[in-house]
Amino acid sequence: QCLAVCPTGALTELDQVDKVWKALNDPERFVIAETAPAVRVALGEGFGLEPGAIVTGKMVAALKRLGFDRVFDTEFAADLTIVEEATELMDRLKKGGRLPILTSCCPAWVKFFEHQFPDLLDIPSTCKSPHEMFGVIAKKYYADLMGIDPQRITVVSVMPCVAKKYEAARPELGRDPKTPDVDIVITTRELARMIREAGIHFGALPDEDFDQPLGESTGAAVIFGTTGGVIEAALRTAYEWITGRPLARIEFEEFRGMEGIKEAVIDMAGRDFRVAVTHGLGNARKILEKIQAGDSEYDAIEIMACPGGCIGGGGQPYHHGNMEILKARAAAIYREDRNKTLRKSHENPAVRTLYEKYLGEPYGEKAHMLLHTHYIERRKI
Ligand code: SF4
Repeated sequence: QCLAVCPTGALTELDQVDKVWKALNDPERFVIAETAPAVRVALGEGFGLEPGAIVTGKMVAALKRLGFDRVFDTEFAADLTIVEEATELMDRLKKGGRLPILTSCCPAWVKFFEHQFPDLLDIPSTCKSPHEMFGVIAKKYYADLMGIDPQRITVVSVMPCVAKKYEAARPELGRDPKTPDVDIVITTRELARMIREAGIHFGALPDEDFDQPLGESTGAAVIFGTTGGVIEAALRTAYEWITGRPLARIEFEEFRGMEGIKEAVIDMAGRDFRVAVTHGLGNARKILEKIQAGDSEYDAIEIMACPGGCIGGGGQPYHHGNMEILKARAAAIYREDRNKTLRKSHENPAVRTLYEKYLGEPYGEKAHMLLHTHYIERRKI
C-alpha cells in the first residue's frame, strides 16, 4: 500500500517478471495464470485506454500469447471464499462465536492487525485470501483432474497489489515448502510491462475466454475489487442462507462509494445485522479501537488497506490519489457485475462441483485444511 502513496518513489516493488519469463521458457513447467478482479479494469490504462475500460478478454488473450498453459480467474476463488466465509459466519452465529467477523482477504490489513491489535487475532475470518485459495485448488484439485504432477505446476498470480508478494511467502499459507500455493506474484504494472516486452499489440487483440473449470465466476466475485464489494458479496450469500429467503434486492447501495467508513443495519429475518465497511488503515484503526473498548455492536466488518480497495492497489497503474480514476474503475467493476448471468457466489456451478467432487462440506475438515489459515502476533518479530 505504501507504494501507492510514497511521494518520492523511494519504495520500489519486488520485481518478479524475470522469474515468470524463466518459468514460461521452461518446457518442464506447467504455468498457470490467475487474475484478480481489479486488474481487468485498470490494465488498459497501461496501453492508453481510459480509466474504467474493461479489458478482460484482451487480458486473457495477452496471457495466452505470453505462453501461459492455462489462464484462470481469481474470481472463481473469490466465490469459493464467500462460500467459506458465509459458512464460518453462520457457524459463529450458531455456536455463539466471537463477533464481529472481519474480512481477511487483504494481506496489508492482516499484517496491520497482527502488529497493532494482537488481542483481536481471533476475530478475523480464518479464510485465506482468494488468490491463495486458488493456488491450493490449482495444485490439488486441478492437478488431480488433469493428472499433472503438482511439483511441475507454477501458479502466477496477477494482482493489483504489492502486499500479495509478501503474503504468498507467508509460511502459514503453504502446506509444504517445496510446493507453495502461489509461486510468483506480479502486479498489473508488471503484466503491462511483460506484454510490451513481448511486442504484443494489446489494442489489436481479440477478446478471449478464461479456461475452465477454474475460470467460472459470478458478479459477486467481480465486486471484490472495490471497497464494500467483499461484504456485499458475502451478504448476497449469507442473507439467503440465514433467512432461507431469496434476496429482494441484490445490490447493497449502502456499501458503495468512496466514503471512509460506511455503516448499515440489515434486517436478517427479524435480527438486526450490523455491518461496517472501511478502507484505509487510519479508518480501520478507529473501528478496531471501538472493538477493543467494547463499544462496537458490529456483526461483520470489511477492511481494505488501500483507498478505494483493490482498484486503488499499489500495483495498479499509478493514480496519484485521483478519485476520478478510482471512481471510473469502481463503476467498471459494478458494470461487469451487472453483465454477469449469475451474481451470487453460492450459485457458481464450478464451485458447487468442487465441493461435490473434492472438498465435501463448506467449512468442513478438508476445506478447513486447505482453505483456512491462522494469524500470529508480530509485535515482537
Ligand atoms: Fe492489496 Fe490494497 Fe487490495 Fe489490500 S486493498 S489486497 S493491499 S490491493
